[in-house]
Amino acid sequence: MGYPARWDRLREEMAREGVELLALVPGANLFYLTGLHFHRMERPIVALLPREGEPALILPAFEVEKAQRAPIPWRLFPYTDTEGPASAFHTAAAALGGRGRPIAVEALGMRVLEWSLLAHVFSLSEPIASEPLLARLRMVKGPEEIAAIRRAIAAAEEALQRWLPEVRPGMTEREATRRLIQACFAAGADALAFEPIVVAGPNAALPHATPSDRPVGPGELMIVDFGAVVDGYASDLTRTFVLGEPDPEAARIYAVVREANAAGRAAVRPGIPAEAVDQAARAVIEDAGYGPYFPHRTGHGLGLEVHEPPYLVAGDTTPLQTGMVFTVEPGIYLSGKGGIRIEDVVVVTENGGESLTAFPRELRSI
Ligand code: ZN
Ligand code: ZN
Repeated sequence: MGYPARWDRLREEMAREGVELLALVPGANLFYLTGLHFHRMERPIVALLPREGEPALILPAFEVEKAQRAPIPWRLFPYTDTEGPASAFHTAAAALGGRGRPIAVEALGMRVLEWSLLAHVFSLSEPIASEPLLARLRMVKGPEEIAAIRRAIAAAEEALQRWLPEVRPGMTEREATRRLIQACFAAGADALAFEPIVVAGPNAALPHATPSDRPVGPGELMIVDFGAVVDGYASDLTRTFVLGEPDPEAARIYAVVREANAAGRAAVRPGIPAEAVDQAARAVIEDAGYGPYFPHRTGHGLGLEVHEPPYLVAGDTTPLQTGMVFTVEPGIYLSGKGGIRIEDVVVVTENGGESLTAFPRELRSI
């Protein structure tokens, strides 16, 4: 879907919600609608997209040329460092005439900095969150988006293949992480989707642990969770390896997590609520007696952001639709001992789900 089609969809959703103006800051939503990427720094940049009429962009003067290259008929409201942003916000608000009208903002992305400038010039009292509206646009991926996600997954899988022969007992988690980062760029990643998690032994019992200076020891389980960004789209891949030989309990739990991952993927089909995938994966872990040791949701949508709707969690009743992309990543974590997580990316197809991740899921010894 090109930008004009995305804007048409956006305007439909704005009409449905009774929103007259949408204010966006640099980030995934602005990129999705304009292809523009700006850094989020102390100088505010705000795009104002009215339901009718021309969009406006308030930005530092030195960014004007970049904004003009985007295929968007912007009205630009630049400000210099000497001027500061206040008068540009005033001029833009006067030009758009949005004072007193319902304006939606990014509840998750906007800072007090932008909000206070907007609230002042548009006389806003309470923010209206634009996320539900924007999620309806972004949750279903177009073929070109799925193709980019496939490229991001391919880069991560190749990085993991390159990295595995380099890891050995005695290496610190941090050193293993550093090598994984190098492997990602060598495999074609434009950027990392997030700071990689390479953790072993007791550290792997924390689902989002930070790599430490602790050397990885023989017999330990090692969780490797990372992603590559290619053409703006992220991948997210977790595999758990064992250094040397696993003890019998570790091998047993690994089999449970692998079965839960398979059950979650097998449950995917259009029409079912997102939470049904969580239930399918969770049931396997609960039946095996490890329910209390699976403390997080089964997965999250994936695209321009690593975590985006829908969320595979009890209470998220979003009906799955063909083209939605999300992770399936059940895990079991035993405090003080170790943890196991197996994460794949799945796309909803017309009659089920397809795993875009192909990396083998057997317990592999390194
Ligand atoms: Zn992950
Ligand atoms: Zn994930």
